[in-house]
Amino acid sequence: MPTPLEILQRVYGYKRFHPLQEQVIDHVLGGNDALVLMPTGGGKSLCFQIPALCKEGLTLVISPLVALQRDQTSALKSNGVAAAVLNSTQSAGESEAVLADIASGKLKLLYISPEKLFSGGTAARLPTWNVGLIAVDEAHCISFWGHDFRPEYTQLGRLRQILPGVPLIALTATADPAIRRDILSQLSIEEDSVFQSSFDRPNLHLSVLPGQKRFERLQGFLKDHPGQAGIVYCLSRAGTEDLAEKLSRLGYKADAYHAGLSTEVRHNIQDAFLKDETTIMCATVAFGMGIDKSNVRWVVHWNLPKNLEGFYQEIGRAGRDGLPADTLLFYSYADVAGQLKFLEDANPERRDLLTAKLERMKQYAEAFICRRRILLSYFGETLEKDCGHCDVCENPPETFDGTVTAQKFLSAVYRTQGRATLRHCALILRGSHAQEVVEPGWHDLKTFGVGKDLKFEEWMEYGTQLINAGYAAVAYDRGMSLQLTALTIPVLKGEKTVPLVKYVSFEEKKAEAPKPKVAAADGDPDLFDHLKLVRKKLADEYDVPAYVIFSDKTLKDMASKVPQNSLEFRQVHGVGEVKAESYGAIFLRAIQDFKSRHEEYQGGR
Ligand code: ADP
Ligand code: ZN
Repeated sequence: MPTPLEILQRVYGYKRFHPLQEQVIDHVLGGNDALVLMPTGGGKSLCFQIPALCKEGLTLVISPLVALQRDQTSALKSNGVAAAVLNSTQSAGESEAVLADIASGKLKLLYISPEKLFSGGTAARLPTWNVGLIAVDEAHCISFWGHDFRPEYTQLGRLRQILPGVPLIALTATADPAIRRDILSQLSIEEDSVFQSSFDRPNLHLSVLPGQKRFERLQGFLKDHPGQAGIVYCLSRAGTEDLAEKLSRLGYKADAYHAGLSTEVRHNIQDAFLKDETTIMCATVAFGMGIDKSNVRWVVHWNLPKNLEGFYQEIGRAGRDGLPADTLLFYSYADVAGQLKFLEDANPERRDLLTAKLERMKQYAEAFICRRRILLSYFGETLEKDCGHCDVCENPPETFDGTVTAQKFLSAVYRTQGRATLRHCALILRGSHAQEVVEPGWHDLKTFGVGKDLKFEEWMEYGTQLINAGYAAVAYDRGMSLQLTALTIPVLKGEKTVPLVKYVSFEEKKAEAPKPKVAAADGDPDLFDHLKLVRKKLADEYDVPAYVIFSDKTLKDMASKVPQNSLEFRQVHGVGEVKAESYGAIFLRAIQDFKSRHEEYQGGR
């Protein structure tokens, strides 16, 4: 039998293991169970695929979504691995063919949904399939506490009785302790079989912007990401459609995706995104699980997500290939109010927990310390030093004595007697004659117009800081009006000094932020684009997502190494034996064509 490292290099074309992969693989090959907690893009799939290829028998992969099963098997097949899917969307003939392959012992990996597993007599057949390993992917679906709870998953514990002695490996990108306990107990895995890798994703840049002027800001962001694939997560279905339409009108290839669309429509939209035909996906959180696309270059959250695990999983869909990727979260109190409204309908048993989780999400959005520290501490990890790759690290906050600013703002809060919102207070301070100010008679207040020296955005920012520090409170249940707190009066009386963090405008922030670090060995960008076209053609021909042919990382490495022959081609990252055989000639010829055209052009000058 080949060793894991041999498989990694020969089948996948990768040089070395990611952290923890090798330990997990050895542990599983020793006949043990495992629970693997790794962030999205950490390389979980190889933790069961490689043991499957090193072992006798069939590996059963439980996976929740048809799309996920299909793409993973396409990727495996493109590497020459005997893999198949068994699900309820197949015709009887297709299932028969798969069953025949299982019976003949040809198949190494079988992807199956829990529904299929426990229906139509499949479970009864299992003992005859020579199963050597069970893998439960997206294992957090088993937990009622998880955000992707799937009742069918709770039956999976039965597999331990149906297939006694067969090692089981469960995998998830969710590290919440309650969920983790649930997985261990339902699947009967021992605590000492848990493998948790760092949840840090250093290639993801983290940033947050205030929720005002979202669309303008988004446009600015998109200008920095021309032609790059990305996802905008919106809270509502209508929001996704609205945004997709606005972006399409500006000429972007954008589409909307949400659970209200028919299965077929969703399938087509997702497919177009996977095939790089649509570049911007405006989606609700229904979109994502099972999106194995490795070249998503950015993720924007149009609205505040409800918790950090969901948020982290969503931003984790960017940069799975390990190349730099950007994330941006828009934040406003209106979003917090929106989320709190959802919680009103929640089961009281869960409401406290969910509110506490939302609070942590707010802390991330409002942070004046390294955002990665906040994220990782949520997952129980500590960073030795600030990450240097988030907006806070790049623009370290500069504080000043903001007592006078605070007094002006809080006096607006005081004089509006708990009726004005943050926005109202900013307008009052600016001396605006907007109807929302004049109607309640606020233009007669002593505070009216005393803050003309500062811009509207500055007042919004300082007001937010004061609220976050507890000098005023937002009444979410009363139209988000601002209320006094025990700290308000001492400031107004001049008994307390208030430090504030200096406001930096979006434009200034952007100008100061270092440009995304481009890996040194990226190769010729024109050649990279040329190779992308070749990949697109192949992907269409075989009807698979582009990344199933080669990842962006592979194409970049190819554009940098510029292989001349099949031996050199095999040295490119992500080129295994079978892919070298299937695509080598095509890509080598494309490289030659590109070079000769280039030389001709240069010679002609
Ligand atoms: P996860 O399921 O944890 O989100 P995947 O298993 O899909 O992550 O892996 C993410 C990407 O990293 C895939 O493109 C995969 O082929 C690649 N990958 C996994 N392990 C390695 C490795 N050891 N070296 C290079 N690339 C790897
Ligand atoms: Zn940081």
